Amino acid sequence: LSEIFSKLIEKIRGVEYIDEATLQELSREIQRTLLKADVPLDLVKSFTENAVKRIKEEKPPAGIPPREYLIYVLYDELVKLLGGEQTPEFKPVKRPYVVLLLGVEGSGKTTTAAKLAKYLAKRGYKVGLVETDTIRPAAFDQLRQLAERIGVPFYGERDEKDAVEIAKRGVQNFRNMDVVIVDTAGRHRNEEALLQEVKAIYDAVGPDEVMLVIDATVGKLAAAQAEAFMKYLPIHSVIITKMDSTARGGGALAAVAKTGARVKFIGVGEDVDEFEPFHPRKFVARVLGMGDLDALVEKIKAVFEEEEVLEEIESGKLDLLTFKKQIDSLLKLGPLSKVFQLLPGGIAAKISEEQIELSQKNLKKWRAILSSMTREELKNPDVLNASRIRRIALGAGVTPKDVKEMLTVYENLRKMSKTLKRQLRLRMPR
Ligand code: GDP
Ligand code: MG
Repeated sequence: LSEIFSKLIEKIRGVEYIDEATLQELSREIQRTLLKADVPLDLVKSFTENAVKRIKEEKPPAGIPPREYLIYVLYDELVKLLGGEQTPEFKPVKRPYVVLLLGVEGSGKTTTAAKLAKYLAKRGYKVGLVETDTIRPAAFDQLRQLAERIGVPFYGERDEKDAVEIAKRGVQNFRNMDVVIVDTAGRHRNEEALLQEVKAIYDAVGPDEVMLVIDATVGKLAAAQAEAFMKYLPIHSVIITKMDSTARGGGALAAVAKTGARVKFIGVGEDVDEFEPFHPRKFVARVLGMGDLDALVEKIKAVFEEEEVLEEIESGKLDLLTFKKQIDSLLKLGPLSKVFQLLPGGIAAKISEEQIELSQKNLKKWRAILSSMTREELKNPDVLNASRIRRIALGAGVTPKDVKEMLTVYENLRKMSKTLKRQLRLRMPR
């Protein structure tokens, strides 16, 4: 997956400037890339439309090159495509928490049962594994051996033919565990018979979470698969396996996200450890092959915050609360020398290197001071008397003189904010 996306990123990085023709070309490239990842056509279309519209309408924040902003928009839209900012959690909220694993034959259920068990055991949960696949005789030994390898208790009945009975006794057997994972068959006389059986198991054990296991290599067909199961019983979450062995994983993820089901984990290899929670954000950053993406995203967010703060100053609302926000976002933006480069030329030229270094140190001190103030004090600095200043200094681990110095800077800034206003308007025409 990251291979097909890295070409796209390379292209974008090679772009000199973004005009209509370049944008056209890029959007075609984005479409090609998404189709290669087997993302459903309707999603590809709306994705590209959205992205192009954003790139045309949104102005990159000050200091962010348009090219980098384009990558950011792409990243942002991809995250949305794959389910948004959600961080899926697996929380066994009762004891025992019964998990039912479903999926077609070969999707990776049995392997996933062991992977999930290991994942949870590592986090301190007591886990039991139950095998109910009576159709494939090898399934019993497969899960038993995996259970042994990861050191988790196993329940199965080699000679019982009724999967529902095994499930009931298995869950009963593990009633003192934190989590019971019930593996099921993926094949039957026919599809109808299979779905009837898992429905019967569902009715018999009343699982707390039904997890559907889907093989990533089916790509966009994952949606139809999920919907077929959803007709018979509720699907609470999805696990996509074999993300390591196909370029179509993106399509599978997008298709599942479209159905409204939540992907909680992905399988990334045959080994029991090759399994991880699915975070759209982290996943997309990795696919785009950008270790520095997080830094870029943070920076862009900080610049947006910074602009909000500047707007507040513009509208004449410079109290200490705004001052604090300003400092927070300045600290997030990183080395101050870079921040000052973003300022209108006139101001930057007047600031010396030493001043920059000094302010960098001061910012941290000031943040500590501001954090020790009450909201009332931030809103209304006039109430700050000697005893309050002493208390604040003590809380921030600085001297009262430091507090007074900061207040002087703030006071000067407030006086300056009128001139600042004019300069800001020059910088950010709206
Ligand atoms: P089941 O029929 O649904 O129980 O599927 P199995 O658990 O028996 O897995 C079928 C095959 O898929 C096995 O060869 C597994 O090793 C393989 N498999 C499962 N998960 C993954 C994965 O995340 N990556 C890869 N590469 N192979 C996997
Ligand atoms: Mg199996």
